[in-house]
Amino acid sequence: MSRKVSPKDRQHVRPEPLYPLFAEPATLTGIGPRYAKLLSTLAGPHVVDLLWHLPTGLIDRRHAPPIAEAANGQICTLTVTVDAHQPPANRRQPYRITCHDASGGLDLVFFHARGDYLTRMLPPGATRVVSGRVERYHGHPQMAHPDHIVKLEDADEIRRVEAVYPLATGLPPKTLKRAIQGALGRLPATENLPDWSDPALRQREGWATWQEAVRAAHQPTAAADLLPTTAARRRLAYDELLANQLALALVRRAQKKRRGRVLAGDGRLSAGALAAFGFPLTQAQERSLGEIRADMAAPQRMLRLLQGDVGSGKTVVALLAMLTAVETGAQAALMAPTEILARQHLATIGPLAAAIGIEVAVLTGRDKGQARAAARARVASGAAALVIGTHALFQDGVKFHDLALAVIDEQHRFGVHQRMALGDKGAGVDLLVMTATPIPRSLTMTYYGDLDSSRLDQKPPGRKPVKTTTVAIDRLEDVIVAVGRKMASGEKIFWVCPLVEDSETLDLTAADARAAALTEIFGDRVGLIHGRMKGAEKDAAMDAFRNGGVDLLVATTVIEVGVDVPAATVMVIEHAERFGLAQLHQLRGRIGRGDRAAFCLLLHANGLSQAARARLQVMRDTEDGFKIAEEDLRLRGSGEVLGAKQSGLPAFRLVDMAAHEDLLVIARDEARLLLDRDPELKSDRGARLRALLYLFEREAAIRFLRAG
Ligand code: ADP
Ligand code: MG
Repeated sequence: MSRKVSPKDRQHVRPEPLYPLFAEPATLTGIGPRYAKLLSTLAGPHVVDLLWHLPTGLIDRRHAPPIAEAANGQICTLTVTVDAHQPPANRRQPYRITCHDASGGLDLVFFHARGDYLTRMLPPGATRVVSGRVERYHGHPQMAHPDHIVKLEDADEIRRVEAVYPLATGLPPKTLKRAIQGALGRLPATENLPDWSDPALRQREGWATWQEAVRAAHQPTAAADLLPTTAARRRLAYDELLANQLALALVRRAQKKRRGRVLAGDGRLSAGALAAFGFPLTQAQERSLGEIRADMAAPQRMLRLLQGDVGSGKTVVALLAMLTAVETGAQAALMAPTEILARQHLATIGPLAAAIGIEVAVLTGRDKGQARAAARARVASGAAALVIGTHALFQDGVKFHDLALAVIDEQHRFGVHQRMALGDKGAGVDLLVMTATPIPRSLTMTYYGDLDSSRLDQKPPGRKPVKTTTVAIDRLEDVIVAVGRKMASGEKIFWVCPLVEDSETLDLTAADARAAALTEIFGDRVGLIHGRMKGAEKDAAMDAFRNGGVDLLVATTVIEVGVDVPAATVMVIEHAERFGLAQLHQLRGRIGRGDRAAFCLLLHANGLSQAARARLQVMRDTEDGFKIAEEDLRLRGSGEVLGAKQSGLPAFRLVDMAAHEDLLVIARDEARLLLDRDPELKSDRGARLRALLYLFEREAAIRFLRAG
């Protein structure tokens, strides 16, 4: 018996015209399992991913001179008559085939060739059209491994401008092109997949249909066709942005509909904590806290982003918001991405909470056995009003007595799902997401949608600027001397070594080797901390640096987030050119927290590219995290800025945020308008937009149409 599909259910399945695009690449003609696998790794698991794999270059094969006029090094398409085959005498020599046209002779040259194959492709006496790079060898023209060999009647197929695609090792360009052609052949007809975009917009921008835009993007005829500013690429980027904005808006609307609770505290506890803190809040802190409290007091669930540079005072704001929840008799939790950071939040919050008699529980992965059970019990009974921890907070075994506010210090390390999981630990939990990576406004919008956001754009008073200098690595000895002088006067030094090629092992070696070399000079005043140390080892290393005899700490990027050591006044960053600007900014934020002048030395390789030089220059010129983020975006593009891959945030395939920012605003407004008019996407246009969501695999948002 077949199950009946209700019309409602039908709204939640992928539209049929898209089926062929969501098959595996192995279903394409001429693509066997081995190449299918390479295609999946290169572009993605579905045929549609090949459509998004756009060319990055082109080869013009229209130049078709007589052999005698083919210049050395030029790509030519030549019509030749095959003369004789000269198989090699030994394996090191090439297989040579002599050819000619009316103007002269040409040799086709093949290494490690199979004679039977060549005889079939290039039988003596036949006329063939060959295309490839012509080289003159002792004056005689030859072409090694032509890119194309076709019969005369097929010459038009190759005598054109050919797109060049990013490749994977082991994947022949021809195979990739065949696969992409196959994918293009599966574009649904416009009748079956009607356009979802606004006709007025299409007209204003001079855009073709989606199908035509996809085809055009794969058919560049001049270098200008490869730019993100072409009509075809803008159209595709817009579609991706519209899908993104629509999905975010759907999630957001569903969330807003969920009932929150009114959390209006009496200010008793937060006033006490502030008094214990001993400093007045900065204006930016006051403003942000006001915005947060207004959200908490409203009956909807809060979902707010608190953005603030390193050291801008987010933790204090978070604590005061958490105490507002506690004042109503509920609990509040703070989740940090790493153990170190969780401990550091505890170091700030613990004493202030103690001063007003509020209990804090700590839940991290490191706590086991009885300690963990005891902490969980205090959370479950409500004895601990404040809870600080890592991912361990949203594990199944953790029950809250009455969680009302969850603060997530995420640094882009938590995915949307984890965020939601913590939100589900209580009824109508308000969410505050903190990030220390200043994000350009455009990216805030693409990654968080219409999330309400507060910015701490002002630092607590008394901060000295950090003086930043760039130094070529061949002056390492001078740097070591300068560092020694600082250590002699009681200052502490961070020495950061980069991740080498994403390899944990190599990463370790670099830091290890540097620590060993520096130990030879400074003895046991040198410490080492890296990502593969156990939690307790890390704590011990940090502690020796903060309070003990270690004055120079060699570190991998584990210190990027959080750590606070007021006596640290110098930061040396090796191979600074390999870091992103946002990361350099984060690292630099670790120093200059005390009252002494602070220095950041960016050690870089000799012979930097102009782009690398420009990036380091930005670091020298400003300490404003928001400005640095905007520059980073301009210089590197959006994917890199957030490290979308590691964060689990959706990566864009067709959007180049530096070039398409104007489209983002249009897409956001359009998504809003569409949902105002048709909140459940039920209209005809709504159905088209659902297809768009499926096309860009944002269909997870569709379930929010029901969940509301
Ligand atoms: P973030 O979490 O944004 O990096 P923190 O909240 O850890 O910043 O604050 C950084 C440092 O500044 C801490 O030592 C904190 O005690 C201090 N601080 C925060 N707000 C103020 C303020 N209004 N006045 C003085 N010091 C402050
Ligand atoms: Mg902090």
